[in-house]
Amino acid sequence: MRKPIIAGNWKMHKTIAEGVALASDLMAAATGELADFNGCEVVLCPPFTAIRAVADAVKGSAIQVGAQDVHWESHGAFTGEVSCAMLIDAGCSWVIVGHSERRAMFGDTDESVNRKVKAALAAGLKPIVCVGESLDQRESGLTHDIVTAQVLAAFNGVPAQQGAKVVVAYEPIWAIGTGRASSAADAQEVCAGIRTTLSGIYGSEIASEIRIQYGGSVKPGNMQEFAGEADIDGALVGGASLNAADFSGIIRATGVAKNRR
Ligand code: PEP
Repeated sequence: MRKPIIAGNWKMHKTIAEGVALASDLMAAATGELADFNGCEVVLCPPFTAIRAVADAVKGSAIQVGAQDVHWESHGAFTGEVSCAMLIDAGCSWVIVGHSERRAMFGDTDESVNRKVKAALAAGLKPIVCVGESLDQRESGLTHDIVTAQVLAAFNGVPAQQGAKVVVAYEPIWAIGTGRASSAADAQEVCAGIRTTLSGIYGSEIASEIRIQYGGSVKPGNMQEFAGEADIDGALVGGASLNAADFSGIIRATGVAKNRR
């Protein structure tokens, strides 16, 4: 039984004080109705500047902290970049890799995503690897090919015991920040395809352990549908993770759906 994982990608939002306030509101929710986060793993991914403060704020709780990107080298002349060791030092146990915004705007490629995945795993950080097709690609019937190629590239050369620690986030680009979520059935179809690809790499036992999130305009009102699907093990949440009530609503809905499965 895979434990659902809900991660909040704060993107370029929240100062240190705002991030700590949001984390504190979520912790307050966790001690009340959402005890034990309804069996979900919860990860907050603030901007680099707020990581240390948020990690300190959630210390002792079940909330984990991640970064939104990382460089694959351990140190050196890479102006503006941050290494895996620096993220761990700041309190991260997770890192998002290959988000479509980084692929589209900041030059991430399948190859650099693979390097980041390997560096993260070697350092002891767990990667959340984002894959997903554009609207053009979907309308041209290329979704399966694009997503399969991204998954194969991301896991290239990653041994099975390491691969099992990775979370894949299926995020159709056209659904990110648009308010236009995929249907749960369409997302399930792609996520099942991702599991088949993982099975081809690692065999069905390891593939059945790897968690696959859906991401793209997830809200408390649509999460139950996604989490009710067989191959969807939680969500990567952008906009709705910036508000404690919405993010806890998503955690609540995931728990409800998983308990019914
Ligand atoms: C994201 O950026 O990963 C995302 C899923 O954003 P949103 O939830 O805002 O669509």
